[in-house]
Amino acid sequence: MNLTEKRNIPISLPMTGIEEWEATKEPLMSGWITSGPKVREFEKIFAERHQVKHALAVTSATTALHLALVALGIGPGDEVIVPAFTWVSTANVVLYCGAKVVFADVDPVTFNIDPVDLKKRITSKTKAIIPVHLFGLCADMDEIKKIAGAIPLVEDGACAAGAGYKGVPAGALGTIGCFSFHPRKSITTGEGGMITTNDDRLADLMGMLRNHGASISEEQRHHGPRPYILPDFNLMGFNYRMTDLQGAVGVVQLKKLDQYIDEREIWAAYYKKELASVEWLRTPSFGKDYKHGWQSFACFVDESKAPFSRNEIMEKLQEMGISTRPGTHAVHMLNFYKETYQIKASDFPGAQAANDYSMAIPLHNRMSSEDFEYVVAAIKAL
Ligand SMILES: *Cc1c(COP(=O)(O)O)cnc(C)c1O
Repeated sequence: MNLTEKRNIPISLPMTGIEEWEATKEPLMSGWITSGPKVREFEKIFAERHQVKHALAVTSATTALHLALVALGIGPGDEVIVPAFTWVSTANVVLYCGAKVVFADVDPVTFNIDPVDLKKRITSKTKAIIPVHLFGLCADMDEIKKIAGAIPLVEDGACAAGAGYKGVPAGALGTIGCFSFHPRKSITTGEGGMITTNDDRLADLMGMLRNHGASISEEQRHHGPRPYILPDFNLMGFNYRMTDLQGAVGVVQLKKLDQYIDEREIWAAYYKKELASVEWLRTPSFGKDYKHGWQSFACFVDESKAPFSRNEIMEKLQEMGISTRPGTHAVHMLNFYKETYQIKASDFPGAQAANDYSMAIPLHNRMSSEDFEYVVAAIKAL
């Protein structure tokens, strides 16, 4: 591989194009642009793919998580356990409800919540646990369920569309599942999210909560016998509705999800094989119970063996045109949480290590085989 011919490889690029663009024509021409038939179609095929009874489209994974907690009745005085290494909104949504965030440490090998630490964090006030399927790898849900008992589990599957655990899709593993369609995820609608559940009562409740608390949807009202009668509002809700423009894009994207994952799986295997000889870099490893969704290829830099620090390595790769990122951040180390809860970085050593030494390298469907070869050659050349 010729390293002198510099390439430019972003960490991620959404796979959208002419089909997605054409799909938006129908809602634009019909004039039904907010939640309507396209969103319903997207929900239907998303529920089928993830083997759940209900899927409800919303504006993001963040609002999905928020609605999930509201539907579970989380409020002041309650505690919700979240892993310390995740995207910040997994914790923020707990605060939206006026409840207390309780962090649990993560396993720096899988980057997911450590069941042993989770167990220690449960109190009589624990009203929900949010296991995160980080980078598309499911958390160890059987262990977590054993520990949680009757405490509801809200899966943060923001990165995990199409992922699975013991043959069960993400989103069908807990009480409620939440997904993201931000452009950094495997499939995108610009911004967007999905809530999944098998619980009829929760689905009904979240359906109303996302639509200002109205007892029927706008579409039902407009197409019903008396469109001029406004519905009753029995709840204080939110406007977290996905638009039909996004729904139309989502339908096209979801149909390509498994193909995207299959392609990423092949290149992930290539990376693992080619990078096995790089002794300072630990590539993702997991058991056969897991079907990885490959939202990201997050590695761990062992600085004791590495020629440079993690940050220097990221800088050198950037100079060669290769974008890398820390996997995500340790939320307990962010200023706001540090100050709100008076926590030290070392209180969660697994999350601290993940924060300081994780490094995601490019893995997406717009990369050519030359791009992958270039990344491998550049890392080896360090
Ligand atoms: C991306 C992400 C979110 C937030 O998703 P949005 O759709 O941008 O709100 C939440 N949790 C995790 C783990 C994520 O990766």
